[in-house]
Amino acid sequence: MMDKIRSALVKYWGYNDFLPLQKDAMECVGHGRDSIVVLPTGGGKSLCFQAPAVVMQGLTIVVSPLISLMKDQVDALRECGVPAARVDSSLELDEQRAVLAAVRSKKLKLLYMSPERLVSERTIELLKQMQLSCVAVDEAHCVSMWGHDFRPEYRQLGLLKKILPDVTVGAYTATATEHVCRDIAEQLHLEKPAILVGSFDRPNLIYKVRPRTNKLRQVCSVLDQHRGESGIVYCIRRKDVDAMCATLKAKGYNVLPYHAGMEDQDRKDNQDAFIREKVDIIVATIAFGMGIDKSNVRYVIHTGMPKSLEHYQQETGRAGRDGLEAECCLFYSGGDYGTWKGLLSDMEPEAHKIAMVKLDHMYGYCTGAACRHNAILRYFGQAPAKDNCGACDTCLGELDGIENALETAQKILSCVLRLGERFGGGYTAAVLTGSNDKRILENRHDSLSTYGLLAEHSTRTVRGWIDQLEGQAYIEKVGDYNVLAVTQKGWHIVRGNETPRLLKPAEKPAKVSRAVEDSWEGVDKGLFEALRKLRAGIARKKGIPAYVVFGDAALRDMARRRPSSYIRLLDVKGVGEKKRRQYGEAVLSTIEAYCRTNSLEMDCH
Ligand code: ADP
Ligand code: ZN
Repeated sequence: MMDKIRSALVKYWGYNDFLPLQKDAMECVGHGRDSIVVLPTGGGKSLCFQAPAVVMQGLTIVVSPLISLMKDQVDALRECGVPAARVDSSLELDEQRAVLAAVRSKKLKLLYMSPERLVSERTIELLKQMQLSCVAVDEAHCVSMWGHDFRPEYRQLGLLKKILPDVTVGAYTATATEHVCRDIAEQLHLEKPAILVGSFDRPNLIYKVRPRTNKLRQVCSVLDQHRGESGIVYCIRRKDVDAMCATLKAKGYNVLPYHAGMEDQDRKDNQDAFIREKVDIIVATIAFGMGIDKSNVRYVIHTGMPKSLEHYQQETGRAGRDGLEAECCLFYSGGDYGTWKGLLSDMEPEAHKIAMVKLDHMYGYCTGAACRHNAILRYFGQAPAKDNCGACDTCLGELDGIENALETAQKILSCVLRLGERFGGGYTAAVLTGSNDKRILENRHDSLSTYGLLAEHSTRTVRGWIDQLEGQAYIEKVGDYNVLAVTQKGWHIVRGNETPRLLKPAEKPAKVSRAVEDSWEGVDKGLFEALRKLRAGIARKKGIPAYVVFGDAALRDMARRRPSSYIRLLDVKGVGEKKRRQYGEAVLSTIEAYCRTNSLEMDCH
């Protein structure tokens, strides 16, 4: 069985190897064992059920929550030469009939549908007469109230094992918590399921977190490094989306907005334009992203802090699904904390408490000085893989520590104490820098011994250090007004027994991370661009997303190997037989012409 699956992987998808846990997950399907597979976005979940489906005798049903997701996957499968279809309410009646006829004639390998359709009487009647290989439940966390996207219609899937007791069920999700896993097993009545949980690290994502100083300039500097590439700019509020979008457009960037306040049709059009690569940049609230499988999002910018690391992980997770490097830049400010606190204030007490803990973790992440990858892994309960990830601002050494951190921290803490632990971060920073603010003068805090102790620094810098001390738990914010108090741990600093880490934002240009160097190694960027143009043309003509034609990884591999023949073309990662047949000629002639004009060597390994 595994040999067959392996050859299908090569033949249809052009991949020679499994990604982590894919093999185990496929083995479960192949051998009829129920399974729950938890892999992060981009971990290759779909292939876990698609590859076995191709080699098994019967039909595989895939349950999916959104029509857009089904459509994307079915398009991609057909592009690879796998007979797949979907039935959903957006199809005309005769289209639906055609699909059902294909099912009956056993021509299909995979059939996508919604959960409510699957458990409907008519579908079950049909399926009882068919040989089923597997039912794959995609986005399986939707059955659980503990997940982040509970969908009541998914609950009906509990009936599945009752109606079709012999069928193998595979559940696939990116939501990691144990609670959700257990709930999925229970709700779906899985039989001794294998539970496969992958690492949540996304090594190809380069995390960068900076205090927000000049939002527009910071955003533009990221955009300028990614000219011509696809990316998302997230804003907290709708009005920020509109403002940012208008400004960027005026500056000549190729942008469109997306938020829940827009007309349905406009939203859909803008999403389509992004998927089809007619527009490079989407400025959006977090309403944007669900149901988007676009694999070559090269950067995600957060112009404000998300309210939890779960959200951050999910939103940044939309970058780099193809495994190639992608940049995730977060620009935060202490004010974001206050904004969220206000927005969360009318929740139920219990839920509010949880939300505030999550908010605090998020803020600690921003102000912290630990490896970003490790901080995320630890938060999700997984052990960090290595000390230096080589793909975050901390590990790349972009954030330099200041030399006299202990002395500086002592000045700050002593000021907090002198202020009687009754004032917030902004006020404390103003006192430390010797501001002539009216309130300070009225309170006579200009006569404190700590007044002006850090006058050589800007208030903003000092405010940042206060945040960092809070992130490392030397200071805490208490009460309704977020006044600063020194923690027990903070007293170690006061006494000089412990040295905190205080950062100064580096002025030097960002280093190129290891991930970036690797995936561009040997790639001719000019040829890559030429192939991108070719791909865009094909996609437009066929009315499918560009990344469904070829992923960025495949294009880079072409521009690296520069094959001269059909045989050599199959060496390229992501080129299976059907794609070679369909696009081989165009690809080969583009490569040939480019290499001739530029006197480039071909057939590099
Ligand atoms: P998920 O659903 O877990 O987010 P996908 O199934 O969309 O992930 O796969 C993510 C990307 O990885 C896709 O571009 C896919 O083609 C690619 N991929 C999947 N399996 C492999 C493999 N074995 N080798 C190389 N690339 C793979
Ligand atoms: Zn790191």
